[in-house]
Amino acid sequence: MSGSELKQAAVPSTLKRHNRELVLSCFRDNQEHSVADVVSRTGISKLTVMRAIQFFCGKGILVSSGKGESTEQGGKKPEYFRFAHKKYLLNIMMWPEMLGLTFFDMNLRPICRSSFPWIIPASPERAFDFVRNEAARLMEEKGIAAADIYGVSLSTSGIVDYENLVLKYSVHSPEWGSDIPVGRYLENIFGPDCCYFVENAGKSISRSVLSEQQPDKRILVLFTTWGLSGAFIEGGRILNGRDSIIGEIGHMVLDPSDKELCSCGSYGCLERLVSITRLRKRIAADPPPESSPLSKLAPEGVNLQHLFFASRQEDGYAREYVSYLAGCFATLLRNVSLVFNPETVVFVGDYAQADEYFDRCMKEKLEQFHYLAAGADIEISYDDRSLYEMDAKGGALALINHFFAQEKLYED
Ligand SMILES: [Zn+2]
Repeated sequence: MSGSELKQAAVPSTLKRHNRELVLSCFRDNQEHSVADVVSRTGISKLTVMRAIQFFCGKGILVSSGKGESTEQGGKKPEYFRFAHKKYLLNIMMWPEMLGLTFFDMNLRPICRSSFPWIIPASPERAFDFVRNEAARLMEEKGIAAADIYGVSLSTSGIVDYENLVLKYSVHSPEWGSDIPVGRYLENIFGPDCCYFVENAGKSISRSVLSEQQPDKRILVLFTTWGLSGAFIEGGRILNGRDSIIGEIGHMVLDPSDKELCSCGSYGCLERLVSITRLRKRIAADPPPESSPLSKLAPEGVNLQHLFFASRQEDGYAREYVSYLAGCFATLLRNVSLVFNPETVVFVGDYAQADEYFDRCMKEKLEQFHYLAAGADIEISYDDRSLYEMDAKGGALALINHFFAQEKLYED
């Protein structure tokens, strides 16, 4: 075959693949679609769409869901198809205070889940023994075989080497050391044929937020719970950087003169300035007046929800601290804007419960920064949904993205 013939032969096969990708992408919304529907969405010819649907039905990726209503013109009833691959996805949340497992079907519907509070075991072996036992229990309960699992995602604290599925380091499990091969631990449990994905929890949750936003937006998701981190999203992608440290904004130094040493080795990190332990110390050292709702609580039992609750009651003592916290976040957003310039900032976790006063103070402080006051309003929102559900969905989304990106899915 000559070079030009080779080229001619290659074009149709690339086109075929491209068309198949387009056709299958229509079914990612987990809705039922007819051939005519896919034709109008993709602009591909009816015959090509029919062939592609047939191809995916043959692979067990699409199934017929029967005939719909007849058309207005009284033509014959169209047949509908839907994505229904018979595999499962598993998301594992290995968090500092909780272990959680959620099985999904390939349509991202949760099938079963379990979670329990824990203290991170002293060794990764022990931690993954828990995962093995809990997964086995759920799989037996639901009749899921290891071969039925398409992929497993792990959400963890700390910094992740995505390529090698290694947990580089986590301040929540320093006794594990560094460069823990978490991917290998998973493979020992679920076998070599699964697809694996390891993600920092803040980023996993952010993937779930991203799926509901305009993909071309510049988004900063602020994850605020046992840690403080963020995800910088640009062009629909979460930025990681060479060492996966993009997003570790809890360790952005806001006050170098601060006296508290952070676990990262620096002084004045945001995470320390706004930590709950600092708030509790302050309350212990300078107790609230009796009129404050916070006076009913022991200082060590106070959390952010209590603080925002008191602030909602217009409690001056609580509001002084809320104003301080809002100032810290305003400074953070000011600094972040200089290197990332987000259009949207979404708080998830503890600060998603923040009151209107926090929001107002933060925006007022932010407006003092003349570069931003020039009309570049940042849209700030508070997403107070369950972090566990958002995390599980984020992990499942990463796996389903992997599924649809497989070359072999589109090959004869
Ligand atoms: Zn730090």
